[in-house]
Amino acid sequence: MTSSNYNPVTKEIIGELQRICGEAFVYAGDEKKLDKYSRDKVPEQYGHMPEVVVLPKTAGEISGILKLANREIIPVTPRAAGSGLSGGAVPIYGGILLSVERMDEIIEIDDQNLMAVVEPGVITNKLDEKLRDYGLFFAGYPMSEEFCFIGGNVAENAGGGRAVKYGVTGQYIQGLEIVTPTGDIIQLGGKRIKDVTGYNMVQLMVGSEGTLGIYTRIIIKLLPRPTHRQAVLVLFADAETAIAVVPKIMTAGGMVPTSIEFMDGFTFNLAARRFDEDFPYDKIGAALLFEVDGMQSSVVSQDAATIRKICRNGGAIAEYRASTEEEIERFWKIRKRIPWELLRYTPHQSIEDIVVPIASIPAALSGLQKIGRKYGVAVPVLGHAGDGNLHAVPLKLPDDSVEHWEAILPALLKDIYAMTSEMGGTISGEHGIGHKRRDYMSLVMSETHIDLLRKIKQALDPKHILNPGKIFIY
Ligand SMILES: Cc1cc2nc3c(=O)[nH]c(=O)nc-3n(C[C@H](O)[C@H](O)[C@H](O)COP(=O)(O)OP(=O)(O)OC[C@H]3O[C@@H](n4cnc5c(N)ncnc54)[C@H](O)[C@@H]3O)c2cc1C
Repeated sequence: MTSSNYNPVTKEIIGELQRICGEAFVYAGDEKKLDKYSRDKVPEQYGHMPEVVVLPKTAGEISGILKLANREIIPVTPRAAGSGLSGGAVPIYGGILLSVERMDEIIEIDDQNLMAVVEPGVITNKLDEKLRDYGLFFAGYPMSEEFCFIGGNVAENAGGGRAVKYGVTGQYIQGLEIVTPTGDIIQLGGKRIKDVTGYNMVQLMVGSEGTLGIYTRIIIKLLPRPTHRQAVLVLFADAETAIAVVPKIMTAGGMVPTSIEFMDGFTFNLAARRFDEDFPYDKIGAALLFEVDGMQSSVVSQDAATIRKICRNGGAIAEYRASTEEEIERFWKIRKRIPWELLRYTPHQSIEDIVVPIASIPAALSGLQKIGRKYGVAVPVLGHAGDGNLHAVPLKLPDDSVEHWEAILPALLKDIYAMTSEMGGTISGEHGIGHKRRDYMSLVMSETHIDLLRKIKQALDPKHILNPGKIFIY
């Protein structure tokens, strides 16, 4: 598919869109308004302007838009908050950008069935805040939770800080109302924990990056909210020593912490200095941030003490415990600040999302440094050490040229992905493929496997209307 397979959005089509959504909710011809919708959080080179932006409010309106798009052969790209890191919400062939930002209602908190029903435009943190009043929580926790939407989390099957203990978003999605690519409205799953009635269409939709259907309602399984949390921040002289303690926490320590976040010395120091934190910066080669939670204060305290002991015996240079909400957030602020500090360092960067078997993390870390040296770039790494998901962030060095950086980037990424594949890993653990990683799929997937994906897409979206050009080429 290329843009030449699609028809342009004409004045008549804009008129029809206005009749469907209301004039105020269709943006066309205003570059400034459209620009915001031309990219997500991937660098500008992956961006593309939409021809028109629509802000529907109901599933019925979305159905009307998709039927029109099928009739006129115009691509439709769904967008939630636009915080994605793979270009998934970028309208690469122009056409209609469909934003769900007005569909932002928490429809129901059902504390009898431990389920929430929400629209896709609800900010993830807003749901979490509301659930506090009920003593419940949604275990999905991307680091972008203060601004990303639940719809985007489902479409990317977002992971994040709590995945070690609680798993990823998809494990909590019990039902979806979707508008199919051809414009039908259907209900999948529901408020039930068990369901083997036909193919598991809910989980096919989870992580489908807006290519198989548009979610208009999401049913989420909730958990009792842990009443106690503690965090432990541990500093190490080098990454190898830090990573070596991770499996010991689970085996010798006999626990699964909520979070085990890894930051190399470069990324940790960059963010911590920003907050004027007093750490022995000269000695830090790596840091681990642990969180433990539970219903019993004594158990949580014991787990935090065990982590400190294992880290101390494992060669840590310093550990700090946080037991109040304020102290815990102080540590998380450092971790969450890193992507923004890396952006301040240079906009010429590529946030990667590889995932390897946890025992391969040390080999992956040294492999990444070797690749960095080969191309003359820095490759700082942070990530979710408990699940092998590493955010390597190749960066242009200050004295390197932008031309050189842009020229080497495709080969550099290919080397990183090939190394990951050789280790039994894959190229995205939580950020998705979008169009940023689309051309590298064959490094981790056989042609037969990709062909199966194509057949599923073809069956649901015969005219390739919904988010074309994402995940794989057809
Ligand atoms: C600072 C920062 C930290 C981050 N930390 C994490 C993290 O810890 N874990 C993690 O997993 N990700 C993280 N991300 C990436 C990003 O926030 C997630 O991928 C998030 O789930 C995207 O949500 P969004 O609302 O921004 O979606 P968007 O970027 O708008 O869209 C993402 C995809 O969803 C599709 N889509 C949107 N709405 C719908 C819908 N209603 N129906 C069907 N498809 C739809 C789009 O077409 C697109 O393919 C981070 C990003 C930033 C900038």
